[in-house]
Amino acid sequence: MEQMKNLAYYNGTITLINDMMIPANDRGFYFGDGIYEAAMVFDHKIFALEDHLDRMCSSAAMVRIELPAPREEIGALLSELVLKVESSCQFLYWQITRGVSPRNHLFPEGVASSLYVYSKPWKGVEMSDEYRLKSIKDTRFFHCNIKTLNLLPNVMAAEEAKEAGCHEAVFVRDGYVTEGSHSNVSMIKDGIFVTHPLDNLILPGTERKHMIAYCKELGIPVEERAFTLEELMEADEIIMSSTSHPSMRAMELDGRAVGMKAPDLVRKLRDKYMEAIR
Ligand code: PLP
Repeated sequence: MEQMKNLAYYNGTITLINDMMIPANDRGFYFGDGIYEAAMVFDHKIFALEDHLDRMCSSAAMVRIELPAPREEIGALLSELVLKVESSCQFLYWQITRGVSPRNHLFPEGVASSLYVYSKPWKGVEMSDEYRLKSIKDTRFFHCNIKTLNLLPNVMAAEEAKEAGCHEAVFVRDGYVTEGSHSNVSMIKDGIFVTHPLDNLILPGTERKHMIAYCKELGIPVEERAFTLEELMEADEIIMSSTSHPSMRAMELDGRAVGMKAPDLVRKLRDKYMEAIR
């Protein structure tokens, strides 16, 4: 099989990413009317594919988008597409929108949803011990559990954090920490792993889920509860997690030194992740 440097797929057409053309009438363009997923590919295999397909199905159902094909077929297509890319380690992204139709707020009738996929070479897993965070007011809507394309507040927060010399934003709503602009926030305090409960205020992160599972295997107690910014400041460790950045350990929050006090627990969790991807 002839392999490509990178790949884009849109409703049956395959090109290089930079050559892909998407109709302007795709509802993702006007309304962000769609949902997405991102996954890591190691050794040409999609890591935690079932978790991503689970969340794809629940996001699509919550915004009443019908999948363009059954879940298993989408999984099989994605697994096939990553084989076409030269690099064995890839970052895979896909989105499903409510299809192509002239702009109108109402759902179009009789229009199939669109599937866009890209996969590109990735440098491998990144883990940092030097993450800097900035707290930012969480002004997002109340459907943060849906992985929708509507990421403008997340984009604004990520940029604000960057302009303050930080790597990631920490959203705070009504005094409680919710999540990052593109990651979940968890902390370790007195040997307990604490993370926001699954509700409409955070995205159910796959790495959050995996870390909870690793804690259970390691006998580390887990509390899924909301915590304040002040508690986070006093945490023994702060871990930001996402698919492409599974274990980013924060050393600074709003200019103050934080965390870095339970290195052994962080190492154990990272070892579990490395075991899982192996
Ligand atoms: N929260 C938000 C807002 C995100 O955008 C992401 C990932 O992009 C996450 C959490 C982490 O999710 P996952 O671990 O599945 O990558």
